[in-house]
Amino acid sequence: MKRSTRSVTRRDFLKTAAGTGAVVLTEPGSTRVDAQDRPERWDREADVVVIGAGATGLPAAIAARERGASVIIVEANFDVGGHAIVSGGNVALGGGTSAQTRYGITDSPDLVFADLTDWSVVQPNGSADYRYNDREIIRAFADHSAATYDFLVAHGVEFGERAPDNRGAGSTGNSAPRENHAAPMRWPLMQTGRPVDESVARTGSSGVGLIRPLEASARRLGVEILLEHRMTAILREEPRAGRVLGIAVATDAGTLNIRARKGVIVATGGSTGNVNFRRIFDPRLTEEYCGAAGEPYTSQDASGEIAAMTVGASIWGGANQSGEFGRVVTKPGRVGCQYGYRSLRWEPTSPIFDRVRAVGLTVTDYQNLILVNKAGLRFFDETQEQFTENSYGKVENYVPHSWRNSANNQYDPTNFLTAALAGVPGEAVNGGGPIWAIFDAEAVAREGWTVEPPFVDRDAGFFFSADSLEDLARRIVNRYQVPAMPPAALLRTVARYNTFVDSGTDEDFAKPTPRYKVQTPPFYAAWATPVMHDTRVGLRINATCQVVDLQGRVIPGLYCGGESAGGFSLHGLARCTMQGRLAGLTAAAEPS
Ligand SMILES: Cc1cc2nc3c(=O)[nH]c(=O)nc-3n(C[C@H](O)[C@H](O)[C@H](O)COP(=O)(O)OP(=O)(O)OC[C@H]3O[C@@H](n4cnc5c(N)ncnc54)[C@H](O)[C@@H]3O)c2cc1C
Repeated sequence: MKRSTRSVTRRDFLKTAAGTGAVVLTEPGSTRVDAQDRPERWDREADVVVIGAGATGLPAAIAARERGASVIIVEANFDVGGHAIVSGGNVALGGGTSAQTRYGITDSPDLVFADLTDWSVVQPNGSADYRYNDREIIRAFADHSAATYDFLVAHGVEFGERAPDNRGAGSTGNSAPRENHAAPMRWPLMQTGRPVDESVARTGSSGVGLIRPLEASARRLGVEILLEHRMTAILREEPRAGRVLGIAVATDAGTLNIRARKGVIVATGGSTGNVNFRRIFDPRLTEEYCGAAGEPYTSQDASGEIAAMTVGASIWGGANQSGEFGRVVTKPGRVGCQYGYRSLRWEPTSPIFDRVRAVGLTVTDYQNLILVNKAGLRFFDETQEQFTENSYGKVENYVPHSWRNSANNQYDPTNFLTAALAGVPGEAVNGGGPIWAIFDAEAVAREGWTVEPPFVDRDAGFFFSADSLEDLARRIVNRYQVPAMPPAALLRTVARYNTFVDSGTDEDFAKPTPRYKVQTPPFYAAWATPVMHDTRVGLRINATCQVVDLQGRVIPGLYCGGESAGGFSLHGLARCTMQGRLAGLTAAAEPS
């Protein structure tokens, strides 16, 4: 694996809160997993070895350590946290947490279980949030949710002092507000290199407020965290039989074999950053979806899944990944840059901005632009949104597990994203191809954008400008857009759209009263391709997070949780922290 030269250490970043320069990172798309069995030598050993120091791995390590196990975490990145550290820090733990009780919210494990297995909750496009959840896994989540909340608090996480709500929620159940918000305190954010303003340190919500306290607690308890150690193989007695013995790890200094006397916990964060892996579940998701949420800090590269599958593990719950609901794929929040996920704005002060390259342009009004595909054709009403998902109170007159819930539904089988992923009619090509925002100088003025670096990424081919639409089209070419956009098609598209502005009616896609012509040079093209996010498929696990093989048998000594585990369609941190803690507790209880 090729790695960039590091000029900022983790200590520098934490100390100065504003590092600069290149850092060693996970390399998106470079998943390499070697099949190996018992090695000739062990370089290190511990009772429990955790792969990944994110939302799953840190709780796993702490829980195992508290049960008396010695613990090593290997982390591929230059710092801990994974996607969790750049997340919004909204943690949907319910089931009767101390916070829910304090604010008089009625919830229970049974209510969580009923909610997250409710077959009748259906999104307008027919996708069902909970129908394909594995009941054994949901039961475990329901039963351990409240205890996980207390565990996080006991290990230093400060949830803002307010009633749980549904801010940031995704498929968290309809019956009770369950979102708790981790206060960022004064920890430097990876996105900005700086702490948040003091006025919101206790009232805001950020993944840094979850991860840094857990990291501190883990270190205090004696968990050893090996940064820049990338797991490349899970080692088993026989390639497909016997106990899991440990892992192989790549470092700058070479390869290490680390023995796990009790168990290995896969906490590697999912697979949506791995093109070949994600296409198992949706062939449309080809290379151009190249700026997954959380990248380029860490990638969901499927390395944990592939390593476990190499020693016999099964994959599980594919329907949750293929369903068009939630945030597996999202409409970008910012255009003109590669990493445009809506809830993650990278600033030039971030210690990894040399990799991010551009902040992007936030679109406040989609009337200001048109969106075209690689052929220069519009494909949908630009103002429409991404896939939807259920959370507290979204189904009105909710009757648990009842067909009556569908009475609320205005069935609508199409969606902006479905159209964006459909591609050019008649072409035998998978994937929707690049999507470009086309706009003019007047739109730039209306939005108040600066169309220069560091806001836009011209050098890497995610932003272009020209004095005529023909020239603009000829320039729109990058790794994913080959050949360039046909000028005549773009001219026709813009001319036709401008007539819709005159008439007030979008005859092609029913955009509500198109307001502004694209007419005043210079003209611009900004990358606006959908962005990958959640992984909702992963390794098959049982109620105690043990990994299960293709014959339905537990693989002794192998555990998994979080986005690398399948069977559960909840968005984000709650299932990760809960499963991490449970995996740690169970692994530590194994005989050595
Ligand atoms: C911008 C953004 C906002 C979000 N906001 C929220 C929110 O508000 N609420 C919510 O519930 N969820 C949110 N999420 C989702 C949430 O962050 C993830 O679901 C969660 O972090 C996943 O936890 P994990 O432990 O599975 O993976 P991660 O937290 O990503 O941790 C995985 C770790 O494993 C490491 N790793 C991977 N492969 C290897 C390897 N081979 N060897 C060694 N280490 C490896 C990675 O570097 C990483 O550090 C958000 C995500 C993003 C990106």
